[in-house]
Amino acid sequence: MAGGWRVMRIAGADVVVRPSLVIVGVILVIVFAPQFDDMGAGPNPYLTAVVFVLSLFVSVFLHELAHLAAARWFGMTVPLVQLHLLGGETQIEGDSRHPWQELVTSIVGPLSSFVLGIVALWGAAASDGTLRAVLWSLGFINILIALFNLLPGLPLDGGRVLRALIWALTGSEATGVRVAGWIGRLAAVGLAAWSLWLTTTADPFALGRALLILAVALFLWQGATQALRHGVYVARIGSLVAAELMRHEPPPPGAVPISVDLRGRDLLLAMAENPAEVYALVDARGAVVGTLDASAVDRAYREAR
Ligand SMILES: [Zn+2]
Repeated sequence: MAGGWRVMRIAGADVVVRPSLVIVGVILVIVFAPQFDDMGAGPNPYLTAVVFVLSLFVSVFLHELAHLAAARWFGMTVPLVQLHLLGGETQIEGDSRHPWQELVTSIVGPLSSFVLGIVALWGAAASDGTLRAVLWSLGFINILIALFNLLPGLPLDGGRVLRALIWALTGSEATGVRVAGWIGRLAAVGLAAWSLWLTTTADPFALGRALLILAVALFLWQGATQALRHGVYVARIGSLVAAELMRHEPPPPGAVPISVDLRGRDLLLAMAENPAEVYALVDARGAVVGTLDASAVDRAYREAR
């Protein structure tokens, strides 16, 4: 797999670690080691920071596993779980998705981070020394991850929740993608501004934090832009309906028969399975009802908005 390492396969999904996770891990160790030193945590603050960052990656993985479990529960296909700069991402595919399934699948991630955070803070209260310092930081950052991921912009979980809500209310997934995608871009701009502001403060850790936040902002912008492009693609494909593109004339002899009820992705898949210039549209009983030109589908896709 290009640009990453496949570390395991779980419930049909490849778990891939992206190089950006390693980079962010190194930055986190550099940012957190002096803070562990300040807290008087253990003889080697860098070792403490490495343990902390590794347990942070484990909790990010558990967050993604919650998404994976919910998606599989609803019978969706999950080809890929990635661990990268922004934490993680679980790619979900499936034709029979409904807004409320999307909502549940999205929200279980931040919920699990929140629960992990509470458990870690509770553990910190019951321990002392290095363990207390690591658990306290882990609890704090997991709650931060839960709150950050609930921001209502794509590609964050909160953006997926907002997309699902708009999708449920308007019946249009593409509208949900547009709104949540633009809020994602706004959040990226906000983070970039925060990062710039941090560099003007006298805090000794400001530069490290500013770089980390700037990296997250860039990643968020890229993710939101990708989601917006995907939304246009979903809308264009969704607008293709065989019955609407049908020519009310008998097809030429030997034309490939496909169902007149096909639409969207299913229509494109049926055409891709039987490549032809002209199709005979047939109803459920197999009776020919009209003609579909491949060129008409092609034109409709290009002209769709
Ligand atoms: Zn998530």
